[in-house]
Amino acid sequence: MPVTPLRAPRGRFAGLQVDSPLAVGGSPQVGGAQTVTAGSPGSGSAAAPWGARGSCYARPSAMASIPSGPLECPREDCLSNCGEATPRVIHHASHRTKTGVRKRRRCMVCGVTFSSLTGTAYAGLRRRKADVDRVLQMHSEGMTKAAIARVVRVSPGTVARWIERAAQHARSFHDARTQIEEAVEVQLDELSCGGVGDAKGAWAFSGIEVSSRLWAGLLVAKRTLRATKQFVREVKYTIGSITEWTLFTSDCFKYYKPAMNAVFEDDPAVYLQIKNRYRGGKIVRSTWTRAMGSELAHDDALARNSDSLKPNTAFIERLNLTKRMCCSLLRRRNPSPARKIESLQSALELVRLIYNYVRPHFALRTRRGHETPAMAAGITTRPLRLREIMSWSVPGSEKRRLALRTLFAHA
Ligand SMILES: [Zn+2]
Repeated sequence: MPVTPLRAPRGRFAGLQVDSPLAVGGSPQVGGAQTVTAGSPGSGSAAAPWGARGSCYARPSAMASIPSGPLECPREDCLSNCGEATPRVIHHASHRTKTGVRKRRRCMVCGVTFSSLTGTAYAGLRRRKADVDRVLQMHSEGMTKAAIARVVRVSPGTVARWIERAAQHARSFHDARTQIEEAVEVQLDELSCGGVGDAKGAWAFSGIEVSSRLWAGLLVAKRTLRATKQFVREVKYTIGSITEWTLFTSDCFKYYKPAMNAVFEDDPAVYLQIKNRYRGGKIVRSTWTRAMGSELAHDDALARNSDSLKPNTAFIERLNLTKRMCCSLLRRRNPSPARKIESLQSALELVRLIYNYVRPHFALRTRRGHETPAMAAGITTRPLRLREIMSWSVPGSEKRRLALRTLFAHA
């Protein structure tokens, strides 16, 4: 597919260098359904930068936004985390480890003691953090667990356990931190996972916020109405409340429309379903149908948009490619397909964390260099290192909030 070189300024996020928010793509489409000729749907290249190692890591002197280790009581049911008691944490003891002295602290409200590793992805491990980091990096570059086990010289079971633990941590980090201020365009899609056993028929639903390239929603599930609604709710949780007309696009999968109607009923959402015809692997014809929102709202949503000239799903399709490249379980003709939905979800959680926070994105270029999607969305000010994310301790109050959110999401 030819690529139009039109990476226009992201006026909303630019902050430092707003060019012109009016430099938006093309004249708005009119009418409830329209046919456009194929070719480039107006995508700037969304290629992920598999850059040199040095470029992927932040300068240590840059902003330290992620506190390492727990700062407050890690128990979610502690009264200090319910707002019923004043938090008070004191020094409890120190002990020597292989790498130095580790301190233990005590919560004076509930009496629990905890160390600087409590609640982090490294708690209770008997290996060096560097080994764990290497395993996670290799896993998110598309290596299989068996291959990683051979390189790092640990058992495949250990590799699987570390990945599972890091994936849970990644999920908590995403839920606690990833919140977009004002979404412009969101694209939704699902990718067949090609699993066997329990994972047979599983699909990876993903949503991308186009202006920041942030991977907003992720759910691995069978293609049911219930799962689709849950996925759309996930997306809504990440993009937060929308106040201006926002464009949503997806393919013509039948459950998106009822899910969008149920979740974004009271929000200013314009939802288009795109139907692409392919010939020889290329899109030759693209048609769209408006399933939510008026014509006027559609024009407003397009006027805010500097990435897409025409309704398209190019950005989410490019993210699907990144997913396949970074996740060995999603590669076609793989000798070891996924057998459990949970392992697919875990693998993709890690890929998403690194995609959003660690790896600068090739399409997000500024005068200071390439940004990560989280930087473009205004969540962080620099690329984070995997070590500092994994060293973040999920605070008790955060665990409580996330638990409540989960209850709410399934209600
Ligand atoms: Zn406590």
